[in-house]
Amino acid sequence: MFKEIWIILPFLILGVFWIKEKKRSTFYLNLLNSLEDLIVVIQKGKIKFANETFLSYFPSPVCILPFLLQASKKTLLKIEYEKKEFIFKVKLHPLPGKDYAIILIDLTETYKRQESLKKLAIKDPLTGLYNRYLLEKIALEKIEEAELLGDFLLFVMFDIDHFKEINDFYGHDKGDEVLVEVAKMIRQSFRATDPIFRVGGEEFLAILVTSNIQKILDLLEHLRQRVEKRRFEGIDRKVTLSIGVAKYKKGDTVQTLYKRADKALYRSKNLGRNQITYIGEEDG
Ligand code: GH3
Ligand code: MG
Ligand code: MG
Repeated sequence: MFKEIWIILPFLILGVFWIKEKKRSTFYLNLLNSLEDLIVVIQKGKIKFANETFLSYFPSPVCILPFLLQASKKTLLKIEYEKKEFIFKVKLHPLPGKDYAIILIDLTETYKRQESLKKLAIKDPLTGLYNRYLLEKIALEKIEEAELLGDFLLFVMFDIDHFKEINDFYGHDKGDEVLVEVAKMIRQSFRATDPIFRVGGEEFLAILVTSNIQKILDLLEHLRQRVEKRRFEGIDRKVTLSIGVAKYKKGDTVQTLYKRADKALYRSKNLGRNQITYIGEEDG
């Protein structure tokens, strides 16, 4: 009887250890799986372990192995998976041998929020056009582009005529609708790379680089006529645009060119509105 106990005792001890060990590893596995962060262990260039959070993001982790292998050199990691883009903060944890654990902290939403805030800071929320914030910087870039190409640079100012009356007669919301529509018509008249700014309540500025000024003047005339002919829902009067154009000349700063475009615009206003005035190098 005693003899038999001595035979099974080692197995009993091993069994107890095994159960204890199993409990311990289940505890740690549960702990890793309950974390919000993504954890993956890389062994000899392959994924050895991925926690459940990781698998909930990337059910086929092998697809993102190339991204993970770059992770050791980065503090931020951008991963594209099934047409979605994620941004993670990376923390590396070395393990015995050359193995290591990667901990990924999801910053996708934070980044998206920051990006949209950045856009809000440079774009006018009502019309989607640039606000004044980047005007100086973009204008200087365009001046450089024109000089490099040997092209002309134009500042084109637009101002909706008697806009205050539209607000007064039809209400501010209707005024907003007109603003949005006119801004859209201006935007659509130019190339996507031509920057357009909302520089005042109902004033806009386009910065154009061109080899053919007459072509731009024709295009502006076409736009002027389209706005004049356009009927806006609930508004039984014409909406018209006054336009002023100034050409860049050597020695101009953004401010002097802007002032000349404004001067051209006010000539259009004084001459009866709904028209275009162009100031070339010679006058102004
Ligand atoms: P002018 O032909 O001389 O340009 O006359 P105007 O009435 O268009 O010009 P004025 O500068 O007297 O009035 C501009 C009006 O634009 C006054 C302001 O209430 C209105 N406005 C400015 N920003 C906005 C906006 O975001 N929405 C609306 N609905 N109106 C705005
Ligand atoms: Mg105005
Ligand atoms: Mg106006």
